[in-house]
Amino acid sequence: MNILILGSGGREHTFAYKISQSTQCDKLFVAPGNAGTAQIAENMDLNPIDFAAVGKVALEKEISMIVVGPEDPLVKGIVDFFAKDEALKEIQIIGPSAKGALLEGSKERAKEFMAMHNIPTAAYASFSYESLEAGKKFLETLKPPYVLKADGLAAGKGVLILDDLDEAKKELENMLSGKFGAASEKVVIEEFLDGIELSVFVLTDGKNYKILPTAKDYKRIGEGDTGLNTGGMGAVSPVPFADDILMSKIEERIVKPTVNGLGKEEIDYKGFIFIGLIKVGEEPFVIEYNVRMGDPETEVVLPRLKSDLVELFKLTWEGKLDEATLEIDDRSATTVMLVSGGYPGSYEKNKVITGISEVSDSIVFHAGTKQDRENVVTNGGRVIALTSFGEDYKKALKKSYQSAELLQFDKMYFRKDIGFDLSQE
Ligand code: ATP
Repeated sequence: MNILILGSGGREHTFAYKISQSTQCDKLFVAPGNAGTAQIAENMDLNPIDFAAVGKVALEKEISMIVVGPEDPLVKGIVDFFAKDEALKEIQIIGPSAKGALLEGSKERAKEFMAMHNIPTAAYASFSYESLEAGKKFLETLKPPYVLKADGLAAGKGVLILDDLDEAKKELENMLSGKFGAASEKVVIEEFLDGIELSVFVLTDGKNYKILPTAKDYKRIGEGDTGLNTGGMGAVSPVPFADDILMSKIEERIVKPTVNGLGKEEIDYKGFIFIGLIKVGEEPFVIEYNVRMGDPETEVVLPRLKSDLVELFKLTWEGKLDEATLEIDDRSATTVMLVSGGYPGSYEKNKVITGISEVSDSIVFHAGTKQDRENVVTNGGRVIALTSFGEDYKKALKKSYQSAELLQFDKMYFRKDIGFDLSQE
């Protein structure tokens, strides 16, 4: 069958890498893609949130399956758009309906869902501008640090964690007055949970589910997890401290009630659930739901999957995921993200990348790259993810770092301490 992947990052290059290995894939398209996807698929100049244009291309190219990479088209309702159209409704589209995507699109909705289905998460309350004074009073009842979250999507910047009560009150007012536009018309105030984070990825058809390998990502730009938040600077899979006891708590208390909750609320959900968790003591709590795979977590999770991804997607679409078997590579996978100097602030693009063909111990997943005549040049903040395998994460990381030394572009930067907190656990 012909398959279309929507998106342009390292996550989408990894999807393309796995899907192109399937005997079930005839022609593979990525829209808009990057210089890496262009080597294994046909890139198309198409905006993933222009649903009518996506539909038109899908018919023209006889696409039978669409894999939606980022959250934006999902939250805006691409799955519903296809379901309502006679000509498009047979196309197997991997991702939740808009109602399902609200678990990521609205933090208030996610918290209500967790409360309704008894899923462990931080205590919270949510406020609008009209209830600003009540919000300030609620802050007074909490212990610092104070966690303030814009309800809507704010490109990973909508969460503030503040030590000072007065500052927290001021920021609450700023947020409710439009600091993040419509995304912060409502603000969720949450109890702070002190622990170590990990992510669990679930593929579900709305009734059945499969748990994919765990991963841990490193979000801050600076070593020791300092400085500004980024899209992610590296990742490790599996998470060494996610032992069988913790995983069985996660499955029983979080994954099962989440999937059952989707069923009870009659939410059409055929896609990934990425559950951001925090382990407090020995107990797991949900920090957030995302309704798609993570980037750079995908770059370590999917390479460890030995099963045919297209077959898994087919079973997902058909509601037969219970018939699927997952085969996972026992080895660890790590990825290190090479970024443009200045990121996540302003940075320059169009820097020539050299050394890609010299890398032999890692898989080079392109993120922000494009082809410029004979050169591959930088085209974003996060440029390339270098994924490696090893008996354990330390051995895998060593390879990712050796590969990083082979690559070069002007003002290239990467964190040298991915996995730094794992040996302490
Ligand atoms: P992302 O960029 O991962 O999509 P987001 O903007 O959707 O994040 P969250 O994941 O909810 O927001 O929060 C961002 C980060 O803030 C978390 O990864 C975690 O480190 C921290 N955080 C969020 N909620 C809490 C909490 N209740 N206690 C402690 N830390 C928290």
